Amino acid sequence: MPGPAPNRARLPQQSSVAERVKVLVDGALPVENPKAALRNFYGGSQIPSPNGGFFIPLGVRAREDGSANLFLECSALSLRYWLLIPKATRTERKKVKDVLATGEDPVCPRHEPSERLVRVGRDLVCQLCCVAYGKV
Ligand SMILES: [Zn+2]
Repeated sequence: MPGPAPNRARLPQQSSVAERVKVLVDGALPVENPKAALRNFYGGSQIPSPNGGFFIPLGVRAREDGSANLFLECSALSLRYWLLIPKATRTERKKVKDVLATGEDPVCPRHEPSERLVRVGRDLVCQLCCVAYGKV
């Protein structure tokens, strides 16, 4: 006869985005103000660098968990930086799913002006942020 349920060992907390962005990736430094930088990136405007000048996008690499790394180079110091692009939220996935249901082509929920999602395997991916927002 089973006794009272034992206290479950607490699972280790998922490391927060803030913690993860403090590490070097491929020798690149984390961007200091990722929120503001992401806002500029999604809006298609230049991201100012703390060293003066701007960040020049070098490329985006998708990560296994659905997020992506954006690599940047500072135009003033030729230092490399990286920025975590968070994976799609439930709301974003729902938005894309709803558009798919109407038979229209879904666009990236983050990018302005709108960027059409493309098929990569079964995923619907934004080519600019490399994040998968839905499945086909
Ligand atoms: Zn995008």
